[in-house]
Amino acid sequence: MMATSTGGSAGMDADVIVIGAGLAGLVATAELAAAGRRVILLEQEPEASIGGQAYWSFGGLFLVNSPEQRRMGIRDSHDLALQDWLGSAGFDRPEDDWPRRWAEAYVDFAAGPKRRWLHDKGVRFFPIVGWAERGGYGPAGHGNSVPRFHITWGTGPGVVAPFEREVRAAAESGQVRLLFRHRVDELTVTGGGVDGVRGSILAPSGAARGQSSTREVTGQFELHAQAVLVTSGGIGGNHDLVRQHWPPRLGQPPKHLLSGVPAHVDGRMLGISQAAGAAVINPDRMWHYTEGIDNWNPVWPLHGIRILPGPSSIWLDARGRQLPGPLYPGFDTLGTLEHIMTTGHEYTWFVLTQKIIEREFALSGSEQNPDLTGKSIVKLLERVKPGPPAPVAAFMRHGADFVVEDNVPALVAGMNKLACAELIDAGAVTELIAARDREVANPFTKDMQLTAIHGARRYRGDRLIRVAKPHRFLDPAAGPLIAVRLHILTRKSLGGLHTNLDAQVLDGAGQPVPGLYAAGEVAGFGGGGMHGYRALEGTFLGGCLFSGRTAGRAVARAV
Ligand SMILES: Cc1cc2nc3c(=O)[nH]c(=O)nc-3n(C[C@H](O)[C@H](O)[C@H](O)COP(=O)(O)OP(=O)(O)OC[C@H]3O[C@@H](n4cnc5c(N)ncnc54)[C@H](O)[C@@H]3O)c2cc1C
Repeated sequence: MMATSTGGSAGMDADVIVIGAGLAGLVATAELAAAGRRVILLEQEPEASIGGQAYWSFGGLFLVNSPEQRRMGIRDSHDLALQDWLGSAGFDRPEDDWPRRWAEAYVDFAAGPKRRWLHDKGVRFFPIVGWAERGGYGPAGHGNSVPRFHITWGTGPGVVAPFEREVRAAAESGQVRLLFRHRVDELTVTGGGVDGVRGSILAPSGAARGQSSTREVTGQFELHAQAVLVTSGGIGGNHDLVRQHWPPRLGQPPKHLLSGVPAHVDGRMLGISQAAGAAVINPDRMWHYTEGIDNWNPVWPLHGIRILPGPSSIWLDARGRQLPGPLYPGFDTLGTLEHIMTTGHEYTWFVLTQKIIEREFALSGSEQNPDLTGKSIVKLLERVKPGPPAPVAAFMRHGADFVVEDNVPALVAGMNKLACAELIDAGAVTELIAARDREVANPFTKDMQLTAIHGARRYRGDRLIRVAKPHRFLDPAAGPLIAVRLHILTRKSLGGLHTNLDAQVLDGAGQPVPGLYAAGEVAGFGGGGMHGYRALEGTFLGGCLFSGRTAGRAVARAV
């Protein structure tokens, strides 16, 4: 079966074909429609999954010098943000030229029009700004010098909503054609330029949002347009690709990985674009988390949830040895991953108290934050009540990775039982916790983690809702002791299709492939790696917003 032509000018089916209805594709399509261009938006998944990963996301956005920051007493600036970005990115090769330019443009956007643009579309933010990736290596090193993680009111669905609305309105008026279950398998090339796509029509599927859908093929299609924009996402759902590109600097690829993304994040379009002349750069740049827990209520295969940790848990490796500073919870994601891969085991442990879990465990994902996602102030206020938030409590009850006990020997026995190996010595952990407790009582501590906790609590937002008051772990009033086993969880791809600042995809010689554009995660959020080696968080949704907007506007100018 061939899809019928929409009968566009010069024998084309539309002005532009966009591949992938995730956030980047929706933003670009909305921009193209606003500029009066006719678009076909192709999506391999059923309509239920429109919005892609962004719908599942926590909705954290990197904004610089926002009113929310200022109200919380945070002084941020473009220069400070750029310093942090470059310190984290560590651009160190000539091929980082476009990624670096994208990084600079993105920081300009985040410190400039981003908030206003979103605000005008109805997007609002939770008033307390989060502090992700705190760094710990000095002023020019990795990390955010100030809190910048702005949680969208409505989380991920709140970010997707205005763009989906605009695209659906354009579909109603006939300017956009939304074709679900259309999987692109090939880009067509004529005279050296990309002028269309060929692909498979997949069988209808009743899969709910995020669930894997059948790959049964019922027909073929071919469509042509003046430009093709690839917004197909990263590789995190394809563990074979993740392992294939795993960088030696992070050790051996892990044997056991949880998936932080749905299976549609399959990376197929990278190879398909390469076959049409595109260059992929930085395929070994990835952003995987070290605080993954098995989802007791999974939506997609190997579904893991990331704990967004506050800084107070003691972090132990599989043998019970404390991770070195500054590898404290929430400080340096990839530094921690690199260290873990030297330990001979792929998992680690948080050891904490009930008091800490109540204050410091947030779970990433829209479905894990029904209060913020549902924009419910009543439910949100329940967070200040004693006890962990309901989704965390559900993990404590049903999760495979939690041990809760009243004393250290019983806790360690539970950890060893879960690991099916006597790897951890209860005596050593008892000594470590006792030593830490002595430091808590000491205002002149030598423990840098405690110094960091005191520093964090100078920030009103952390003191209010994010960082537990320092207390002795062995104080019975702090509640039972808890150990949580943490796995490596795939999430973002930082490398991808090499693009210039007009989102044109470049070939191996650095020249634009005529007609081919890319945005979002498949383009390393711009340039093929605007994050460099490491990210500051909230920069992925923001990267889709910025690169989708940039691509949509650039393509509209070109066609
Ligand atoms: C649980 C979770 C929490 C997150 N939290 C945050 C956060 O707080 N802050 C932040 O900045 N980022 C966060 N992220 C990351 C962010 O959501 C993603 O990086 C971003 O949404 C990627 O968007 P995208 O449009 O590039 O790709 P995707 O959302 O992956 O969309 C790509 C679409 O293309 C389709 N597609 C792929 N190949 C083809 C093909 N051949 N033919 C047709 N269609 C195709 C896919 O089916 C998919 O629908 C989170 C992600 C997850 C999963």
